[in-house]
Amino acid sequence: MLRAFPVADTVRFFDEIGVRLHEEAGGKLFPVTSRARDVLEALLREARRVGAQLDAGQRVLEIDRVAGQFRIVTPTQEVIASHLVLATGGQALPRSGSDGAGYAFAARLGHTIVPATPALAPLVLDAADAVHAALSGVAHDVELSLRVDGTIAMRLAGALLWTHFGISGPVALNASRHWLRAQLEGRAAALTANFYPGRQFDAVDDEWQARARSAPRASVHATLSTIVPASVAASLLRRLEIDGAITLAHLAREDRRRMARALVEWPLPVVASRGYTFAEATAGGVALAEIDAATMRSRVCPGLSIVGEVLDVDGRIGGFNFQWAWSSGFVAGRALAKGAARA
Ligand SMILES: Cc1cc2nc3c(=O)[nH]c(=O)nc-3n(C[C@H](O)[C@H](O)[C@H](O)COP(=O)(O)OP(=O)(O)OC[C@H]3O[C@@H](n4cnc5c(N)ncnc54)[C@H](O)[C@@H]3O)c2cc1C
Repeated sequence: MLRAFPVADTVRFFDEIGVRLHEEAGGKLFPVTSRARDVLEALLREARRVGAQLDAGQRVLEIDRVAGQFRIVTPTQEVIASHLVLATGGQALPRSGSDGAGYAFAARLGHTIVPATPALAPLVLDAADAVHAALSGVAHDVELSLRVDGTIAMRLAGALLWTHFGISGPVALNASRHWLRAQLEGRAAALTANFYPGRQFDAVDDEWQARARSAPRASVHATLSTIVPASVAASLLRRLEIDGAITLAHLAREDRRRMARALVEWPLPVVASRGYTFAEATAGGVALAEIDAATMRSRVCPGLSIVGEVLDVDGRIGGFNFQWAWSSGFVAGRALAKGAARA
């Protein structure tokens, strides 16, 4: 589906409707004007140009099958249609209107719904057992690992942002769906941070020994502050009950090894996510096996197509969720247009 309408086609499409895009660090694409409203206005202009009739501002309350057609009920009208594209989104940011109503519509039309959880959501840490509160606003690179039932299920590296409630930033947001899925399945999930991304205990312990030889009079805090921000170094050492002021020459072997082990596997006691109100996407939704990938048509309900986030698809940070919405919408639209041309 993504190949049917890839990023290059998306950039061209937006250019054609008057939204020039520019690329920022990490390959992220934004309108040159940096205004979300410009994207909205261009899409509305294009919809009007091609003759679409928009009936915005009213909620669909009910969708039924009546004599092989769809009956769509809103507070003010009833629409009968031979074809229906369900594009109701997930549950993230429910005040935008995407509040999960689409799952009930899809289920009523015969679809299986994979239970949903927030995705790309900040994570709440146990206040009694974590260092986050004192570090609110500090960001740095880490590697997160998630053990599910004792086995590594996910490793992700990137920027972590400490907040007053726990953790956020790209790496925490990307990890959230994995922790939440494990919770949903009733499995034991444990998240840890490695402050030396990609390195393990032996390598870190060796490095601290080498540093003790090359700079024996450097303090433990100053040395750790070359790896993580100074405030983080202070919090970690306090938690480990290691005096940051002592020199590397005086750091006891046992403390050095205990610290090296903690630095590659720092427990992050997640208790919850911040939920749909703060999530950027939803994991779960309409089961993909029930959708024909070439057309986005339902395999269980003739005349129905389903696109975007209401489906059981979620991507990591970086525009993948938007691209999924654009691409699946394009595939559905193209198939419907071909069908209409044949009719
Ligand atoms: C804060 C935030 C930031 C995000 N940032 C990014 C990002 O940087 N990159 C990225 O790729 N993705 C991002 N996303 C995710 C992205 O916005 C979604 O994946 C994408 O918009 C999904 O498109 P969609 O058309 O399937 O659903 P939506 O955009 O959710 O649209 C669904 C529409 O259906 C309407 N609707 C739902 N139910 C009904 C009903 N019963 N009656 C009438 N209308 C209804 C809703 O009002 C809504 O307008 C972000 C999401 C949020 C919340």
